[in-house]
Amino acid sequence: MLLASPYHLSLDPAETAAGRPFPPLGPLVSAAELQALGHSVAFYDASLVSHVETFREALRGHQPTQVAILSDPHSVPVKMCTLGQRDAALAMVRLSREAGASVLVAGPDPTDHPELYTAAGATHVVVGEHDGALLDWAEGRLAPGIAPRRSNTTHLDTLPDPAWELVDLGAYAERWRRRHGRWELNLSTARGCPYRCNWCAKPTWGRSYHVASPERIARQIFAARARWQPDGLWFTDDIFAVKPPWLSAFRALVGSDPLPFRCNTRADLVREGAYVADLAAAGCREVWMGAESGSDTILAAMDKDQTRADIEIAVSRLRGAGIRVGFFLQLGYPGERYDDVLATLDMVRSLRPDEIGISVSYPLPGTGFHDRVRDQLTKANWSSSMANEVLFAGAYPQGFYEAVREVLRAESAWWTWRPGSSRGALRRTGALPWHAVRWPVHRARMRWLGRG
Ligand code: SF4
Repeated sequence: MLLASPYHLSLDPAETAAGRPFPPLGPLVSAAELQALGHSVAFYDASLVSHVETFREALRGHQPTQVAILSDPHSVPVKMCTLGQRDAALAMVRLSREAGASVLVAGPDPTDHPELYTAAGATHVVVGEHDGALLDWAEGRLAPGIAPRRSNTTHLDTLPDPAWELVDLGAYAERWRRRHGRWELNLSTARGCPYRCNWCAKPTWGRSYHVASPERIARQIFAARARWQPDGLWFTDDIFAVKPPWLSAFRALVGSDPLPFRCNTRADLVREGAYVADLAAAGCREVWMGAESGSDTILAAMDKDQTRADIEIAVSRLRGAGIRVGFFLQLGYPGERYDDVLATLDMVRSLRPDEIGISVSYPLPGTGFHDRVRDQLTKANWSSSMANEVLFAGAYPQGFYEAVREVLRAESAWWTWRPGSSRGALRRTGALPWHAVRWPVHRARMRWLGRG
């Protein structure tokens, strides 16, 4: 049996530029589940290979009768599902069928568009969480066709640890350290998210939320530290430590010398001082927050259930605890006008986050946002992660959002600059004169295209 993760970093220019590749966590848990049932599993990790054709060689080498192509539901780049990644996954389905194997496919895009994968030849397509269906398929109990959504796993402690030994972790560590001088391994404490932001796609677990015990996560960290020696961790959870008592217990378990980590959070969680103290003591060094907009009107339209005041308090608390802050920002949400964009600029300039990720709003299938703009869609998916295309008839032209983005990137390049000798630090230093020259041009373009 061959398990394959179809995500190609080479087809993702945004993540390639970030230089922080992560191994496919979800599929590695699936591999461990199959191993626990006694199956012999080979693993193909497309992340660091440059071309889909490499998969043909893997099929020749392993001669599998069963191939499972599993996209990682923990990975944001996977959930974006650009056309390039989809084409690669479909090509892997075709190659597997040409090799005569039974082919199961699962993940966010197969959940949203199962018919694309059956048309490419997949014998089984799983909608939603795939664990149970995968095990049935491996044992010959799964009927061919589209396997409907099943109940989600509720007790995450029953899952095995990821089979890290099946991928080349050294190659990931080498890429990280060459670029950043350190390496982070990815871990997950939970599946799903209980919040209701209406643009956020939740194809695999819906709005359910289940978390592993703090004891299990602490044990996984100790084991990973002893065996692989990462310099830090990235928790892939949509939102880390949704429940404050969980965080307190976790903090007590990881001890006084915890492995540093980064994670995603929400402003309404980290506006509480006791919570932030636990977060810092547990090892958190950086959080990424879906700030999205500086306009309360737009935050309300998104059902974000947080306000700009929450964001301001949260940043102040985090800074006080020595935790770096990254903002995810969105431009072009329906109803956003020029003044709302100026409010976002004002918020970012006043709070000066340490990192910024800026995107135009992306209507993903299954979301309230997608339903709202369904009749105005000009295209369904971005062609690549760098595309940042406005996919529906919005208030302003594409060039306006590009200009706003470049203004923010240029300004933040100055306040986030730190001296350093890593490749990443040298690149940032080298980019400063470029930003200085371009900033007035982008600002003039922003004003011109946003006029009226
Ligand atoms: S945007 Fe974040 S907090 Fe909101 S629903 Fe999605 S994962 Fe949850």
